[in-house]
Order: sequence, then C-alpha cells, then structure tokens
Amino acid sequence: MAKREKLFGTNGVRFIPGVTHTLEFVIELAEAIGTYFDKGTILVGHDGRVSSPAIYNALIAGLMSSGCDVLEAGLVPTPALQYSVRHLGVRGGVMVTASHNPPQYNGLKVIAKDGIEIDRVDEEKIEGIFYEQKQYKADWKEVGESRKETSVIENYLNGVLAKVNTEVIRRSEFKIVLDLGNGAQCVAAPYLIEELGCELITINSVVDGNFPGRGPEPVPEKLETLSLAVKSSGADLGVAYDGDGDRAIFCDEKGNILWGDESGCLISDFLLEKSPDGTIVTPVSSTQAIEIIAKRRGGNVIRTRVGSVDVSRKIMESNALFGFEENGGCIYPKHIAVRDGCIATALMLECLATRSTTLSRAISNYVPKFYRAKGKVEVKRDEVRKILDKIEEQAKGKIEKIDGLKIWLDEKKWVLIRPSGTEPIIRVFAEAMTKKEADRILSRYLSMIGRMT
Ligand code: MG
Repeated sequence: MAKREKLFGTNGVRFIPGVTHTLEFVIELAEAIGTYFDKGTILVGHDGRVSSPAIYNALIAGLMSSGCDVLEAGLVPTPALQYSVRHLGVRGGVMVTASHNPPQYNGLKVIAKDGIEIDRVDEEKIEGIFYEQKQYKADWKEVGESRKETSVIENYLNGVLAKVNTEVIRRSEFKIVLDLGNGAQCVAAPYLIEELGCELITINSVVDGNFPGRGPEPVPEKLETLSLAVKSSGADLGVAYDGDGDRAIFCDEKGNILWGDESGCLISDFLLEKSPDGTIVTPVSSTQAIEIIAKRRGGNVIRTRVGSVDVSRKIMESNALFGFEENGGCIYPKHIAVRDGCIATALMLECLATRSTTLSRAISNYVPKFYRAKGKVEVKRDEVRKILDKIEEQAKGKIEKIDGLKIWLDEKKWVLIRPSGTEPIIRVFAEAMTKKEADRILSRYLSMIGRMT
C-alpha cells in the first residue's frame, strides 16, 4: 500500500472487502495489531456479515503470524466479546464487524485488555507499525496457536444477569418482542429474555449477513414491523438491536418507537434514584432533558465529543454511573464500560418492574419532553472551517465547543453544527420544546450553511 491513508475512523477500521481493501490487507493489518499487542493471547470474534468468516480467518492468520495466541469466540455480539476480553483476562481482542453499516461493509475493532476500544494514541501506534515499522513475523517455531473459546456468550449473559434484580423482573412476567434485525444479538439476547422469565416473541431472528429483514441500523422508520408486532401481541415492550448488538432502540406498549435520548434518560433517572450523587456521561448531541433529570436527582452530567469511545473513556475517568448516546447506545460500567444492547434491555426491564409501570407511562412521568430534528449538508472539505467560523461570528447566545459548535438560542433550545469525521458533510441537530420549532431551527441552519458553500 503506497499511499498512507488513515485506517481508524470513529469506530475502528471500516472498509468494503474486495472493493476498497483485500484479504491480504486484513492479514497485514492483523500482523500490525499482533505486533502492537506484542504476543500474548488475543480473543477474536465476528458478526454475521457475509464477508465476516473470511476476514475472521485472515485476522486469525495475521495474529498468529505475529506470534500471538488466539482464542476464537466465533459469531458473537460485539459487547459479548468486549466483556469476555476483560472477564478472561487476555491481553486484548479484535472484533470483525461493521456494526450498523450496509451489508457490503466490514471492519475491525481493536479492544484493549479492559474491554474498551483502544484509544486514539494506540490506533496511531498500530498505523505506525502498519506503514513505517515492520510488522513482526514470528519464526516458524514461534507462530501462535489457536483454539475455540466457547464460554463467551454464557459469561456475557451471566455478567448481565448479575447486574440487575432478576427476581423483580421475573415476577413481572413481561411479554417482549425482540427485533434482532438478522444481527449478532440473535445468538444472545433471546436467551437473556428467557432467563428473565419473560414471554418472548422474535422477529428477524435468523443471522443473515444480507440483513433482509429491516437492515442493520435500527432507525425508527425501519421499525414498523416491531411496532405492529408489539401492538398486535399485546406485548409490554419491544427492543431492536443494531447489526453487532451494542445499540438498543425501544418500542413502548402502544407501538411508539423511542429514540435513544428517551430510553437513555429513563434508565439514567432509574439509576440516579438509587445512586443520587451519580454522574451521567453523554455526548454534546443528546437531549437537555438529562440535565433536568440529574438536577432533580442530585446527580450531574458530563458532556463529551460524539462517539462511544469518548463516552466510555470519560466514564472510566470520572467513575461515572451510566452513559448513553442518542442513537441507542447505553453504557453501564458496573457491567462493562462499553455500549451493550443486552444490559440496556435488562436495565429497562428492571426499571419498569421496580416502578410497576408501563414504558409509555414511565417516559411521560420521568423524562421531560423535548423535540429534535436532524439533518446534514454536503460541503467541500476545505470549506468546513470557514463555515463554522462564519456561523460562530453571526451567532447570538451561549456557545459550547466540545464538538463542533453548539449554540443555545435560548434556555430551552439549541442547535449543534458538527462536521463529520469521515465524510464531507456537516451534521445539524436541533432541539426545542415543540416539533415545529425544532424543524424550523433545523431548516434555518441547513439553508444558512447551504448558502455558505
Ligand atoms: Mg454497533
């Protein structure tokens, strides 16, 4: 590879196998990752994508070639692999996944020994080994060994079950619809629900790398089947996971799809009620409702840049209680400080069981109502800075610059203008007291940016 391009994006390395990158690339990158880990034992796993088994085998070969021993977890959700890296006490992990990206994509996520994705500095170390330093290739008698590791799902589910009050959940005898989206949670989440004594209905429950059901990303417009299934079966709630099972989107008993802001706030409120001085960590893009909740309960909120790794690392640093993202990522560090769809599900059930209420009532009772709107504008990469400076110059009101530009238009409404890290676009988020107002703010800023390009 002649040209030096950045390998790691916001969530590990992503590529289109056979189009942008080859399996030879995977072997060489795996050798660089193995060199970075410097021998030791590495736990590897993969999601259900069509290209995942081939990439997984190339990954194993590359790690062994650099002298690492490999434990093969096979098809597992990403959080199960991350939990098991820490639980098994191995040196690190690598997950083959492209999370919620379209079927043709794939990627690698490198996990540190604490179970969290490696940080930016270590990503650069691996890139340095890949491009500049030579990857270590072990002598024939030092090539690593590999064996199957079959305990990963069981350990992971036991880990989740140990963090919630299973008694109170079992007594509630919930009826749950899981929309598994043909993704990696097909092999874990249904067993969790059964262990929790719930009646279970599943949709899109067969692992399929073409994601024929509703695609790998659980966005509200793709969850109509879930909504109908919950309503027609009289279920208490529904849950949809993304392709690798680290994000969970909930559906209330009336069939309303909740965005991650609402479910994240409800779980935060429930946990803060038990630990009033707790800290909640969330990116700058999530709802202001969390500050109201934290204040009411005596807790506090730390805002981060957008990206789950930033939330995870900040949670560890601040010894926080919980973290969430507006896209349905929930992080409970007592379990593990990474996003996990199963712990989100278990905490939600514990919250509803403890409060003996329905999901729709819990949301309206405990989560202040705000409305949001999201959009994006294509821009030339070299114009991004200029556009942000111009908007900042014209802005009236308080400005926060944690990630992009967040302008408070008054006490209850804000707009966030944030350049994407990977594509030539600027994303705009708006939040206000009414849907109409949020939409109005969004369209005003989208056209303002449009005029500047
Ligand atoms: Mg994911």
